[in-house]
Amino acid sequence: MTMTAVGSAIEELNLHGIAQIRFERAVSELDLAPGFSDYLRRPERVIRIEFPVRMDDGSVRMFTGFRVQHNSNRGPFKGGIRYHPDVGEDELRALAMMMTWKTAVMDVPFGGAKGGVVCNPKELSEEEKRAVTRRYTSQLGPAIGPMIDIPAPDVYTDARTMAWIFDTYDMTHKGENNLPVVTGKPLELGGSYGRSTATSRGCLICIREAIAWGLVPDVQSLGGARVVIQGFGNAGAGLATLAHAEGAKIVGVSDSSGGIVSEVGLDPGKVLEHKEKTGRVSGFPGAHVVSNEELLEWPCDVLVPAALENQITGTNAPCIRAKLIAEAANGPTTPAADDILSERGVTVIPDILCSGGGVTVSYYEWVQNLQDEQWDEDTVNARLEKKMVKAFRGVFELASERNVDPRVAAYMIALERLARVTQLRGFWP
Ligand code: NAD
Repeated sequence: MTMTAVGSAIEELNLHGIAQIRFERAVSELDLAPGFSDYLRRPERVIRIEFPVRMDDGSVRMFTGFRVQHNSNRGPFKGGIRYHPDVGEDELRALAMMMTWKTAVMDVPFGGAKGGVVCNPKELSEEEKRAVTRRYTSQLGPAIGPMIDIPAPDVYTDARTMAWIFDTYDMTHKGENNLPVVTGKPLELGGSYGRSTATSRGCLICIREAIAWGLVPDVQSLGGARVVIQGFGNAGAGLATLAHAEGAKIVGVSDSSGGIVSEVGLDPGKVLEHKEKTGRVSGFPGAHVVSNEELLEWPCDVLVPAALENQITGTNAPCIRAKLIAEAANGPTTPAADDILSERGVTVIPDILCSGGGVTVSYYEWVQNLQDEQWDEDTVNARLEKKMVKAFRGVFELASERNVDPRVAAYMIALERLARVTQLRGFWP
């Protein structure tokens, strides 16, 4: 467990603990029946599997995999699968719960889940990753399915991994339309146009709305707004490209090797080319190198954490010089940082809203697969825009009505939607 100092106190940076704090804050604003919050907090099912894989050198190695299915009252479970040495039940419980809130606040008809395999994918060959994926999928058995639980890519899994999951499931369910069993698939295999940029586009729409709502002092439009982005992967680089195209000035970006800043602004396309050649953003011609800590504190209008959790904490929140924080990553801001930023008047667009574009277009992929259709990119983007704007307005209107911060408002909306559906259905039997 990681800790950081906040003044003289110690802040716990455990994702599960943080998920509980966020949940409790929202519950305290709602009028739920006794015992109801305990029901909403707990997962429906925690699956743990152990399985063997024959490695390239002929040896047999045991792997541990999980799938946590949090709540399916609003629809089938939905959530990513990650391959990482730190995958564990507590973290997946927290992430599965966050997926339930994310699908509810975005108003897509899914519940929340998260899964993973404890492994270091960087040490596995392509063939070993394929074997891990196939065995993990087959051992999950009837726990996943197009109307039961629909996985998606997450940390160190991608469209290729989703193609293997689909194939494994399809081999054992012949004669059925199995494409909707996973989302984030390759375009040629039932994937959706617009899925790869959906998280970035959703985040951009939120930033545009926040500016239109007057939440970014002295900024009237994205054109000319100074933007800093932590993380230059799928979400971060995608956002840099889209924001740059709308006239924003990208004054700083970073990846795990460090950050770069430029007062004249960076061209994301050129930074991407440089990263493809050298493997990192640092060293980009004409830009100054900064540490990741310095990048987060760089003066800007909009700061976008698009890398890891727990980046803005009680320790560095007093030094953040952004006017708006748009959380493209899951869980980048801690509860102690939330309090400090709120006191300082810095608006935070919460992750369950700001990074909800990905799951929204995953839902569109699922719908296209069920209908055996493929929509064009403009159709997908237009539907995403409508959904994001509606979700943003819902959260910020409630925040202002109830005088709570937008994160609490987003959780309140999600919890109320789930509570209402649960009350309508009643508890079985
Ligand atoms: P990615 O692996 O494509 O990119 C992550 C980036 O973060 C990489 O550039 C990496 O170098 C950088 N990074 C790692 N450690 C860093 C550090 N200490 N400082 C600065 N940069 C660092 O991942 P992604 O898909 O872009 O996801 C990023 C975040 O967005 C995650 O929190 C993820 O859960 C969240 N998210 C992604 C999606 C999606 O559709 N891709 C959807 C919802 C949420």
